[in-house]
Amino acid sequence: MSDAILRFAPIDTAAVKVLLCDADGNLFGSEEPAFVASTNVTNRLLVDLGIDRSFDPEELRRRAVGRNFRATALELAAEAGATLDPDELQRRVVEEQHEVVAYLAAVLKPDRAVLEPLAQLARRFTLAVVSSSASARLDACFAATELDGLLAPALRFSAEDSLPVPTSKPDPAIYTFAGERLGIRGAEGLAIEDAVVGARSAVAAGFPTVGNLQFVAPDERAQRAAALREAGVAAVVTSWRDLVELLDDEHRELPSLAGLSPRVHA
Ligand SMILES: [Mg+2]
Repeated sequence: MSDAILRFAPIDTAAVKVLLCDADGNLFGSEEPAFVASTNVTNRLLVDLGIDRSFDPEELRRRAVGRNFRATALELAAEAGATLDPDELQRRVVEEQHEVVAYLAAVLKPDRAVLEPLAQLARRFTLAVVSSSASARLDACFAATELDGLLAPALRFSAEDSLPVPTSKPDPAIYTFAGERLGIRGAEGLAIEDAVVGARSAVAAGFPTVGNLQFVAPDERAQRAAALREAGVAAVVTSWRDLVELLDDEHRELPSLAGLSPRVHA
């Protein structure tokens, strides 16, 4: 048993049919590179607005956490007393999306530490994607990381494109929608999420959830694990390999959950 697996509640792995996988920060480490590209667009905008200020990617990441580019651009303009008309803002939003997708497509690489365990899991479970990101961005990332073959396009659900009205996590809308399309509910799905907003979305839609810290910076892991637990996850793992182990182990130990021997879930 790996020390890297934290268990908070039992998972009925025998009931699970589909793994509902978050994408960004879970299947690949996209957050930092996305901010590199976004920072370029943001700094160009500041120059064009005559604002004497610039950001490095980490600075912008901390500043913009939980906000999209549109909100951040408006806020920066307002703080400097500059006006950003709606057409110009829309042009910049589209520009930012294109630059981020192009950059992710260029820098993301196949990762055996994701591909191998995921291929193992695919033999036992259906793999679906449940993401807040736009489909174009997801498609580019899955191509770059060679996850394409494991994650069928028909089983990718985007809170940006799949819903009648885009509704980002933590709203449960995209998980509820995915569950309806897949014909699963509750314990038939197991969500895998790196972020608290994602875990809240999955839990609110009624799916048991596992937190995955594989792409979370080591010095942020303890805090993230605590926040994920608070959000209602059943377990936290530090890698996809640990998830394979968690699900195998839970499977073997199901009789104990039925009362043959007590198992303490810390
Ligand atoms: Mg994520």
